[in-house]
Amino acid sequence: MMHQSTKLPIDDVHQKTDWLMMNASLASLSVALESKTAKYRTQLFDLLSQAEYMLNGAKSENLFHLTRLLNRLHQAIRREITTPSEDFSRIIRIMRHIELVIKNGSLKDDQSNFPVALILTECDPSDELLDALLRYGFAFQVLKFNDLRSDQLLGLINNSELIISILNTDRAIYFLVDLLSPLADVIKKQPSILISNHDSFAERSAAVKLGLANFLTEPLNINRLNTILQASKFYENFDKPIHVLMIDDMATAGAYWGKRLKDKNMIFKFESNPEDAYLSAIESPPDIILLDLYMPVINGIELAKVFREHPLLIDVPILFMSTEEDDICRMDAKIQGGDDFLNKSIPVDYLIKMINYRAFRYRQSNAIKMSDSLTGLLNHNAIKEFINTEIERANRQNYSLTIVLIDIDNFKKVNDLHGHQAGDIVIRKLSNMLNTRLRRYDGIGRYGGEEFMLALPNTDALTALNLVNRIRVDFSRKPINISNDRNIVVTFSAGVSSFPEHQDLTTLIEAADNNLYLAKKAGRNRVICTPPPSSV
Ligand code: GH3
Ligand code: MG
Ligand code: MG
Repeated sequence: MMHQSTKLPIDDVHQKTDWLMMNASLASLSVALESKTAKYRTQLFDLLSQAEYMLNGAKSENLFHLTRLLNRLHQAIRREITTPSEDFSRIIRIMRHIELVIKNGSLKDDQSNFPVALILTECDPSDELLDALLRYGFAFQVLKFNDLRSDQLLGLINNSELIISILNTDRAIYFLVDLLSPLADVIKKQPSILISNHDSFAERSAAVKLGLANFLTEPLNINRLNTILQASKFYENFDKPIHVLMIDDMATAGAYWGKRLKDKNMIFKFESNPEDAYLSAIESPPDIILLDLYMPVINGIELAKVFREHPLLIDVPILFMSTEEDDICRMDAKIQGGDDFLNKSIPVDYLIKMINYRAFRYRQSNAIKMSDSLTGLLNHNAIKEFINTEIERANRQNYSLTIVLIDIDNFKKVNDLHGHQAGDIVIRKLSNMLNTRLRRYDGIGRYGGEEFMLALPNTDALTALNLVNRIRVDFSRKPINISNDRNIVVTFSAGVSSFPEHQDLTTLIEAADNNLYLAKKAGRNRVICTPPPSSV
């Protein structure tokens, strides 16, 4: 196909773009690109004109997030055309994100559908940072210090879900302090990150005073960044409204608060019977429990104890609500299992803030519990839970699902020859590579010491086999720097298995494990799936 043939008439853009169709042709081009055939330069030009066409459409329909993404795609393709690197992973990642946006139907109300990261900086933010944000579903807005005044910032901060400040020059800290000091109280309430090119007490304390919650240094530790983004779960929070369970013997309390909390997009459940409340809480655990202190049959303190006994409710936040004024009694309630004590006449806004804050911290600590401390990936239990959830989804929606068990080859030798720390560096390197090469909605877990588990939703065995093989080759070709003067080359083996061929968690993992064993026996540094998936 001549690349000119895909140039579409630009004057058509006032007609509504068929995004699904557009994306299908974008995706077909990306397949050709990924297989790196001899024609890939022609493909790049095709892709460029396609991206240009879509960009015009997105601009004319005021789809801001999509416009930003397409702009990045356009730039990345142009860069590849002028200075070929033949590494298309970035281009492919941006295209996958575009696909996600289009498939989710998030196009319509798109500004409000995507959390926005506000980036304050003097120089351009790094690709690593922008890629990590894309992966976690953020739209972003980059603002240079020179162009800004404090009074303009307030509105921007209120409209964003995450504030990132970058200090890449020595004077940047002065700009930042000038800009943000008057807004520190507002910033404190929001998730934020300060990224600095050096680590000093002065900058760390300035960050705290400005209300910037996380301090990262350059070069960015991508795993730490991922952990912060994942732990905050902004993206998920967004899909998942806060689930509130209120228990009170007075039905009027339920009617009053129910209306107000539902107005704030919370899922509100009210129970006046303690036993029903308990059953409801273990059937679908809430993000927060509002509990009346004085009730007949069982009082709030006793009921809180019953909740706390159940493993699913061990640390769900419990807020007592009562008219009790006695300080000793209030403290007693807290000591005995409540997290806080609120007066029933609390102003609506205040209760809503309190619920948001507590539920956010609760979800954050749950997310940290699910992640592996060395790599920031999902831990053993969390990746298994992820696979289980995906099996259910695959079942319901008739999707395929493929899992991959990866084990580093001769890892004992790495430890023995170069030390345990070198081993850790290797584990982190592979985890970094997996993190940047897979899609945001893929599950990536550290399954054991030097074993990783991938769960790829809506992906068949053949696609997964090809993908993991490409990662395997790239990993085996990139020497890993383990100390000042030492580089080592490491390989891995992998076993692949798929749903619906294997129907449940146990048999899926067993099959992947058997295939991994075959890969090791056959000489390592290979990926095996049995029976081999056919290419048609
Ligand atoms: P094979 O190719 O057959 O997989 O050989 P192997 O040497 O990798 O064999 P095996 O899986 O039995 O060895 C894994 C080793 O990984 C054993 C353990 O000492 C080491 N290990 C496990 N967890 C960690 C970790 O967190 N850090 C480091 N540095 N080493 C670890
Ligand atoms: Mg092993
Ligand atoms: Mg091993």
